[in-house]
Amino acid sequence: MTVGPRIVVLSAPSGGGKTTIAKTLRERYPDQFGFSVSATTRQPRGGETDGVDYRFWTPSQFLAGVNQGQFLEHAQYGGELYGTLRSDVAKILESGRHVLLDIEVNGAAQVRKLDSHALTIFILPSDPRVLVQRLVGRGSESRDEIKQRLERAIDEITEATAFHRWVRNDDLDQAVEAVLKVSEEPATFVRDPRDLPWMKQYLIDLDDERHRL
Ligand code: ADP
Ligand code: 5GP
Repeated sequence: MTVGPRIVVLSAPSGGGKTTIAKTLRERYPDQFGFSVSATTRQPRGGETDGVDYRFWTPSQFLAGVNQGQFLEHAQYGGELYGTLRSDVAKILESGRHVLLDIEVNGAAQVRKLDSHALTIFILPSDPRVLVQRLVGRGSESRDEIKQRLERAIDEITEATAFHRWVRNDDLDQAVEAVLKVSEEPATFVRDPRDLPWMKQYLIDLDDERHRL
């Protein structure tokens, strides 16, 4: 039995791999997953296309959208606004596919509250050094932005216990298949007793890495 079309939220600290996993799922399983294109007030990065990666809106367009109730959820990140459009989500669900949301933890909490069928997944590599290496290696942020993102990562990882599932993104194919599998499972919280001690150590190690940058 399948769970039927639903919202699948992918959250991760910056560099955790949520964008890569969402893109791979859409490419490999276009009949099962659609992707909601968020609106944001941030500037496009090199290689990003309006309407494909994000809808790049001005702050006044965004606030008008908020006032008109166009957003399923919205939040601030790095001084910019980001939000999921209800219309996008509805269109994908109506087509019979799951809708992938690549959103930060406050947005994920809003979705969890308003849709008990939605599944929220927290993604991160097992080794905090790998997280930092991938973030640096992506080359899309300055050193200062990376430091800020890592500081925020520590708060975000602390929120991970609120997510239904954790998926480790070490090997990309395994992580993609894990998200595919759990997307068909009920929105219950599944936790391994070893997870919490692991998480504590992860936070300590990540903070060390951040100071070393
Ligand atoms: P996020 O969207 O969570 O910030 P990205 O998807 O942009 O993270 O991934 C950060 C960087 O790590 C990107 O350069 C991406 O290509 C790389 N990456 C993601 N997952 C893996 C993986 N499993 N193995 C190796 N590199 C990865
Ligand atoms: P970036 O600027 O790196 O593309 O995204 C910054 C953060 O904003 C990421 O954690 C990303 O998941 C999150 N984000 C992107 N779109 C949305 C959205 O529509 N809503 C929320 N709440 N967060 C989003």
